[in-house]
Amino acid sequence: MRFSQLLVPTLREEPAEAEVVSHKLMLRAGMIRKLAAGIYTLLPLGVRVMQKVERIIREEMNRAGAQEVVMPCVLPADLWKESGRWDHYGKELLRLKDRHDRDYCFGPTHEEVITDLARREISSYRQLPINLYQIQTKFRDEVRPRFGVMRAREFVMKDAYSFDADEAGAEQSYERMYDAYTRIFQRCGLRFRAVEADTGLIGGRFSHEFMVLADTGEDAIVSCDSCDYAANIERAEIRRAAEKTNEKPKKLERVQTPDRKSVEEVTTFLGVPPERLVKTIIFETEEGAVAALVRGDHEINEAKLRRHLGVTQLELAGDQVVADVTHAPLGFAGPVGLDLKMIADSALEAMSNMVVGANELDAHLINANMGRDFHVEEFADIRLAQAGDPCPRCQGKLQISRGIEVGHIFKLGTKYSEAMGATYLDQEGNERKLIMGCYGIGVGRTAAAAIEQNHDEDGIIFPFAIAPFHVLIVPVNNKDAQVMGAAEDLYRHLSEEGAEVLLDDRDERPGVKFKDADIIGIPLRLTVGEKNLKQGKVEIKVRRSGEITVVALEDAPKQIMGMIRAEAEA
Ligand code: ATP
Ligand code: MG
Repeated sequence: MRFSQLLVPTLREEPAEAEVVSHKLMLRAGMIRKLAAGIYTLLPLGVRVMQKVERIIREEMNRAGAQEVVMPCVLPADLWKESGRWDHYGKELLRLKDRHDRDYCFGPTHEEVITDLARREISSYRQLPINLYQIQTKFRDEVRPRFGVMRAREFVMKDAYSFDADEAGAEQSYERMYDAYTRIFQRCGLRFRAVEADTGLIGGRFSHEFMVLADTGEDAIVSCDSCDYAANIERAEIRRAAEKTNEKPKKLERVQTPDRKSVEEVTTFLGVPPERLVKTIIFETEEGAVAALVRGDHEINEAKLRRHLGVTQLELAGDQVVADVTHAPLGFAGPVGLDLKMIADSALEAMSNMVVGANELDAHLINANMGRDFHVEEFADIRLAQAGDPCPRCQGKLQISRGIEVGHIFKLGTKYSEAMGATYLDQEGNERKLIMGCYGIGVGRTAAAAIEQNHDEDGIIFPFAIAPFHVLIVPVNNKDAQVMGAAEDLYRHLSEEGAEVLLDDRDERPGVKFKDADIIGIPLRLTVGEKNLKQGKVEIKVRRSGEITVVALEDAPKQIMGMIRAEAEA
């Protein structure tokens, strides 16, 4: 491909709209352009990278025995009503009407469509197991689209769905996908980790997220420093707290805490450690308000609380609700005399003589004791794991890092086959529900995550397998016939050998060409300059290491092809 004929609008300036480095670099490398919030056009370099990611995904999905299909992206509401998600999916679902005023949505995911296909086409155990996948555009009306294609509203996803006759089969299908995902992300050149993930309301033991390790990741990952336990923080379990102290209960007292609201302000003012205080946090759910109690130095884990309560909506209560239930302004809620369902974090079991809000402006209670001064409905693990917490599996300690979720594998069980009547006949002729799994990978997010992990201050350093081209040939001076002739020869020769070559035939200053080369991050650069050429030499530069070797012109193709082959085999 010739640079002069390719639309690669590179940018010198830092794009102000971008917060993370992958977004900045995808804009600067001329890979993407924004059309509207969370909606992007892919330009030629962007397309080439996405196609490489897709190809790796396809090869590994096919290798794992999955079959490719393409489902529609505009979906009739009726299917979504059958599964119940028309009402539950909320505002992320883009709803449409056709000319007959019939309801549709733009598919954010395809469990309903695939289950409908399965109930029509699968009737016998002989057709099982089966795994069907597609690579297709989704739309999710995200609350906060950001980071470019990493969290877009319109994006391309590979989604796969497995159907099995029994649990054992479903587990095998799950493991096959786990292995395929591991290969896919390895081949994309990513440093990643599979972590246990929250299964939300669907429940079940099986869900893993594939997290690309990056400080800018939106997800917090908890991992053990000694065993292989790793989980999304939403999911991470807390080992049960220590035994109750044998401190004697003291007399409950009310103390004035003028203008002190935060844990730090109150505990400093009272001269007690934060772990003596209990925060009372009021939430609203579809089943009404609830109070969650956690220790002052701990944070509430909303995902765990939501799962524990079995609700879909859980939001911090607004000032008005807090005032209604506590009869005090925000910041002074406490469990004593509070007429609400109360869930206490397990750590509270070990506590006595706690500091709690007094449900009164500028006042707290000290020496509050559970059982004597207030009662909770139950104890549960509802706090966020913190660095240094004991590992739930071994004697190690937990550490916290950040990641970008690029893939998610999930055992669905019979949630959809039950709701939509997808059954098959077993060997004995009994009608049984299909057991399902679903498996997603974000194509754009994977590419962006790769850039997040592979760049320097000058630009992208593409992992070889997903680079838009293998080699960039830079003739330093276009006007010099010898230089251009040699560059053209190399271009032809390498292309014939099967290399993916980009020839920078633009009439630009060398500085511009080199800057662009660094931004777009093609792994190998072959520079044809007047001085070297006079001695029959050209220069090979490896983008990642910056290493430069000067080689004889006639050896250059062999050298480059050797490097490409070594990369392809790695
Ligand atoms: P997140 O928690 O990041 O919103 P999710 O749990 O909603 O992700 P899934 O429904 O499991 O995501 O979708 C499968 C994959 O699709 C994700 O692992 C991710 O790679 C990709 N994906 C999801 N939402 C987006 C988005 N808004 N933009 C780009 N890719 C996305
Ligand atoms: Mg989401």
